[in-house]
Amino acid sequence: METIITRFPPSPTGYLHVGGARTALFNWLYARQNHGKFVLRIEDTDTVRSTQASVDAIFDAMRWLELDWDEGPYFQTQRFDIYRTYLQKLLDSGDAYYCTCSPEDVEAMRQKAMATGAKPKYDGRCRERGLPPSPNAVIRFKSPLSGTTVVEDVIKGNIVFQNREQDDFVICRSDGTPTYNFVVVVDDITMGINTIIRGDDHVMNTPKQILLYKALKAPLPVFGHVPMVLGKDKARLSKRHGAMSVTAYRDMGFLPDAFLNYLARLGWSHGDQEFFTRQELIEKFSLKNIGRSPGVFDVDKLTALNADHIRATPVGQLAPRVLPFMRQKGYDAADDAYLVGVIGTLHARSKTLVEMADGAHFYYREDVRPYDEKAARKFLKPAVAPVLTMLAEALEALPDLAEKTQEAAFKQVMEKAGLGFGKIAQPVRVALTGTSVSPGIFEMIAVLGKARVLARLKAAGEYIQSLEST
Ligand code: GLU
Repeated sequence: METIITRFPPSPTGYLHVGGARTALFNWLYARQNHGKFVLRIEDTDTVRSTQASVDAIFDAMRWLELDWDEGPYFQTQRFDIYRTYLQKLLDSGDAYYCTCSPEDVEAMRQKAMATGAKPKYDGRCRERGLPPSPNAVIRFKSPLSGTTVVEDVIKGNIVFQNREQDDFVICRSDGTPTYNFVVVVDDITMGINTIIRGDDHVMNTPKQILLYKALKAPLPVFGHVPMVLGKDKARLSKRHGAMSVTAYRDMGFLPDAFLNYLARLGWSHGDQEFFTRQELIEKFSLKNIGRSPGVFDVDKLTALNADHIRATPVGQLAPRVLPFMRQKGYDAADDAYLVGVIGTLHARSKTLVEMADGAHFYYREDVRPYDEKAARKFLKPAVAPVLTMLAEALEALPDLAEKTQEAAFKQVMEKAGLGFGKIAQPVRVALTGTSVSPGIFEMIAVLGKARVLARLKAAGEYIQSLEST
């Protein structure tokens, strides 16, 4: 069987956005599933709008998403010799010709066509003139005058275009630079691309490209045009629907696998399954299950899926991912057993890595004071001081603070003080974290360890005393 070769060819005129990432993902999944190749190509011929910063941002996003490529990155600006060879081929075969009509001439032709109710187009004036190259000449493709061009789209079905509506489009400008549709076709042919999945904003280009394939006697690839991504209000996704750049989602604490899972579901389905690991996506992806209606981007759904992925990821694997967020908050955290313990208490309750780092504050602050005012007022009352002392003594006497071992100490204090667990747990929580919301008491104590726990219980006792003496 033929090796499947797909490609992702972003134009570096901005960051990698949600729709682009989904296109990259679909092509990557299809290549991986078929043990094929995934090619990365940078379409930088628009030298005015292309920037190195955008190229870097695209690489950065692809790496974060772990969408690795087997070939490339190719840069179109480094391939002009190849394009020239292919232009010459078309000139030699009579499928292209030089045209010296000025932009004003062409505009007049368009106006004339429109006046008769026809589609505005170049009228083919230089088509049979056999003009030689000259400084102001463009090269036009000799488009067939009749018949149809059919895009056999694996997603949309057959789309039929009338050739008579297609004009002899320019494939090389008078300054010698080849045009977009031409270079894409030359690249796709020379890179052996046989499957093209792209946004349906490109569907109008496809008949032109098919005509070029035919003139160059190259086999046609499989085409699939994916409907756009919309915002919740059904308008095309834009900045006002939230962040557009893929790396903004990294910075908001999303996991790459959760983000990919969500992107895949934006336009593709497998029954009613929502949660997919990367491996499952590779196994289950299929072109025929790409939907015909636009995907609606919903950050709440993405967040819920992220929570599921965080929960499903082994804590050891989360550690290096959450570490940058810890550092950002100024915590002196390292990828060590303590961090793994910390994550173990937080990962079932965090929807994003940012939320996880937020929730870890008390693990990395030496002193959790000042206490949250409301929590302290409610739970650190004079009657609690002896209970905290009792608990500190009971915990100190234990050989270790494993969750099971602690239970005995708590029981002992509950009996002595004649209090239920709830009455003890909240003051302890405030003492250990400075707030009234945290992971479970036992698991938290096990992670904090004896030294921190005893110091914090003692500090809370002193705090209560200081209140009494004022
Ligand atoms: N460079 C084009 C874009 O960024 C993609 C062209 C294609 O997929 O053929 O939209």
